Amino acid sequence: MINRLLKLSIAFIYASGLIFRKKETLVVLCYHEVTAQQKQNFIRQLDILKNKTQPVFADAPFLESTTLQRVAVTFDDGFANLLENAFPAMKERNIPATIFIPSACLGKEPSWLKYTNHENEHEMLMSEQQLKEISEQILIGSHSFSHADLTNESVDVKNELIQSKQHLETLLKKEITLLAFPYGRSNEVSRNIAKNLGFKRVFNADPILEESDFFMGRVDVSPDDWKIEFHLKILGAYAWLPKAFLLKRKIKEKLNVKF
Ligand SMILES: [Zn+2]
Repeated sequence: MINRLLKLSIAFIYASGLIFRKKETLVVLCYHEVTAQQKQNFIRQLDILKNKTQPVFADAPFLESTTLQRVAVTFDDGFANLLENAFPAMKERNIPATIFIPSACLGKEPSWLKYTNHENEHEMLMSEQQLKEISEQILIGSHSFSHADLTNESVDVKNELIQSKQHLETLLKKEITLLAFPYGRSNEVSRNIAKNLGFKRVFNADPILEESDFFMGRVDVSPDDWKIEFHLKILGAYAWLPKAFLLKRKIKEKLNVKF
């Protein structure tokens, strides 16, 4: 809670322009599930997006400046509860959705959460058939094949990405050009492999320092976010986070301490 309040206060200062901030031309939100209990809160957030921003797909151009803040709503993992609790309300409001799928996990429980006591441990992912049915209205990207950590040296990154891309392209009969790294973890090697395989844009789970048209950060959101948090997030005010992490690392290195 203190951590959340601290982040909120810094985001508030950042947004108010008291410390330098660059204008965000595209803010990408990263959701996971939307449960039945969260549905009403999620709809409230959609109404804010509808009124205050220009919602776009996650492959929207990066550098174009616009009068309205452009925001892309993305979902990682492809939880089946989105079919009922998120997509119909988004369609009604004409808000585009982009989802990232670990394709080998379709129709199953999220294997990477097994024995973790995570609240989504037994939340089902949508099936191949369900994904196919919504593929006309939603932009679909890869989230690797088996939700592997693509920075782990024992993982065959190329194979994970090729299998996922081919699986989704065969199933959906369209080109897959977006990728969100599982756990938000990537390195230069995995990003280069993705680029060579034809991915046009890849996403972290958190904001990053040097964004480009190819490698973009996102901001983690939940339907349970406080209203003020959500407003600041869609303004791009959480873009200060990587600067804070960098500062923390530098202080740690200088002092040679652990905290
Ligand atoms: Zn994931």
